[in-house]
Amino acid sequence: MGEIMKIGIDLGGSHIAIGIVDKNGIIIEKKEVRILEKEKEDITNFIENYINENVIDFMKKYNIESIGIAIPGTISETSIIKSVNLGIENYNIVQKLSEKINLPIKIKNDAKCAALAENSFGALKNYERSIFLTLGTGIGGAAIIDDKLLNTGNLPGMEVGHMIINKDGLPCKCGNKGCFEKYASMKAFKNNLRDALELTETTSGEELLEIIRNNNKTSEDYEKIEQVINEFIKNLSIGISNLVNIFEPEAVVIGGSFVHFKDVLLNRLRKYIQEEQLLFNQRDKLEINLAILGNDAGIIGATLLK
Ligand SMILES: [Zn+2]
Repeated sequence: MGEIMKIGIDLGGSHIAIGIVDKNGIIIEKKEVRILEKEKEDITNFIENYINENVIDFMKKYNIESIGIAIPGTISETSIIKSVNLGIENYNIVQKLSEKINLPIKIKNDAKCAALAENSFGALKNYERSIFLTLGTGIGGAAIIDDKLLNTGNLPGMEVGHMIINKDGLPCKCGNKGCFEKYASMKAFKNNLRDALELTETTSGEELLEIIRNNNKTSEDYEKIEQVINEFIKNLSIGISNLVNIFEPEAVVIGGSFVHFKDVLLNRLRKYIQEEQLLFNQRDKLEINLAILGNDAGIIGATLLK
């Protein structure tokens, strides 16, 4: 059967990806399926069938030691307490899968899995203390302290997206107002840009990126676009500075769809934090870098769960 492998599963809001991962964090083989709207009607059944079928297939081919699953939402040790993206509440996924699969199964929040992967094999490898943020539909976060994921007990913790940055601000689905992700998620950024330019929601992220890349002082919408970017950078800087002031990390690493916009956003973010002197303890340079494992971070990180 050969080398011992682990299975990492990334349960996304719109896809399931299953990978065979070796001890060096390399994905040897991967299978992926999109979760279509019709599947959402019986989502737990769809998840169980897809995972069972593929894991059982992989077990015939590889010497598998354990399974880890990265989950978008709040989880306990064995259950998904709530995942808005998947439309699931109180679902004991470990127990359900264990009916057909005889392997240890661990689950964890997806941002935490991505942080673990980046810490072992990616952008956080060279730091002892770091903050990891995923900027996408919402904002997820994780803290690595002394080379280990910050222990937050039974709850995910580091709910960075719901850090309140504006006390009478925009209402959030969590029930509070003024949450960080209402201002600084990529979803918020893209929606604000579409609104400012009176574009419909069918305008894709790539199209928006092109619009920003082509924006210059002679463009008709120059001011509008600049204003949306400035507001976004300002809000993102406030959230990041709050975290840096609390944890004093050596580096902040950002993943999620922010990475696609790196050439138009990253340097502005670095510059703003430095020039506005938002950090309580000023530093010559704050390392703000990008995640490098991309979509594979969830799969790889899930295999590192203990
Ligand atoms: Zn919130």
